[in-house]
Amino acid sequence: MKILISEENFIHNISFLKKKYNKNILPVIKANAYGHGSEIIVKLLIKNKINQCVVARISEAMELLESTGIPKDFQIIILETVEKKDLKEVLKYPQLIVTANSEKDLLNFLDSGIDSQKIQLKIDLGFGRNGIVLDDIPKIKKIILERNLKFSGIFSHLFSVEYSKGIEFIKIFENILNELGRENFQMVHLQNSLAISNYGSLPFVTHLRPGMFIYGFFEDGAYEENLKKVFFLEGEILNIKNVENLEYLAYLSKEEMKNKNLKKIAFIKIGYGDGFLKLNEGDTVLINKKPYKIVLITMDNTFIDVDDKVKIGDEVEIYWDLYSSKKWLNMNICEYLPILSKRILRELK
Ligand SMILES: *Cc1c(COP(=O)(O)O)cnc(C)c1O
Repeated sequence: MKILISEENFIHNISFLKKKYNKNILPVIKANAYGHGSEIIVKLLIKNKINQCVVARISEAMELLESTGIPKDFQIIILETVEKKDLKEVLKYPQLIVTANSEKDLLNFLDSGIDSQKIQLKIDLGFGRNGIVLDDIPKIKKIILERNLKFSGIFSHLFSVEYSKGIEFIKIFENILNELGRENFQMVHLQNSLAISNYGSLPFVTHLRPGMFIYGFFEDGAYEENLKKVFFLEGEILNIKNVENLEYLAYLSKEEMKNKNLKKIAFIKIGYGDGFLKLNEGDTVLINKKPYKIVLITMDNTFIDVDDKVKIGDEVEIYWDLYSSKKWLNMNICEYLPILSKRILRELK
């Protein structure tokens, strides 16, 4: 089985969002590009002259820099604080942009010789995760004025707050932006996919920061019908066996197979060793446009209950309907896709 990535649909999604909201797009490619494969996705970005992306950790950025030819003018924004011991990498690679999540971070970065043009400020609007807290804004302002700093950007994150609360947070963020001086920041961004769908095109932001939307899916409340799925997990049926002739099917006994009323079983090469969880047993795969049930998942193989219409070599699609798998697994799409391991090949469709 392979993960096939549709360049056409991926670029469609980015262009669509850019045009609809009239803002630049900062594609979020953390967690192996939500399982799509960050290497292949970054190559598509570069090829299509989209010159920036966002990751969560420095480890994600380093993996990309070490494996992919990333041009010097391509920017990788790292959301989480980069520790002091890793700042030498930031000094070495012009592509890296770091985030100051506190006054201490900012001073650390500046003391280590990092140019403020390679720093973004993250403001915490009260979620207590990452970011400069509101009480520290006067101190930050003082540092900016004293040292005459110009930054790569400033941003915050709205999580999934209720609509009216979000409006309040947006107002607070805009006030901070004015307080620190809009002209001191090249990029201003605030919205993930849900917040794009909720608040649309805010006048003071320069960029939108979607993950899910660029991959063509959304979670509850963030509907956007023009987006297209980018990810196709496909492969071929390698073998079909008559249950009659089997004593065991992996760990299922003849008795158990009989109880399940199984007649013919098709094999495909994917298993929980690939991050295809055993919880998928009972869900369906698509063969010749028809759904067939998954009977058993082992570490390397998956077994499907098929009928006489299915032949060796037929094409199989897994996770063919992301929303029905979400229901079956009782897991978010951005929870079950990123765990698909690197053992699965990623290629362009
Ligand atoms: C993950 C993340 C995003 C992207 O979120 P989606 O809901 O997938 O659009 C945006 N901003 C931040 C800070 C994130 O951590």
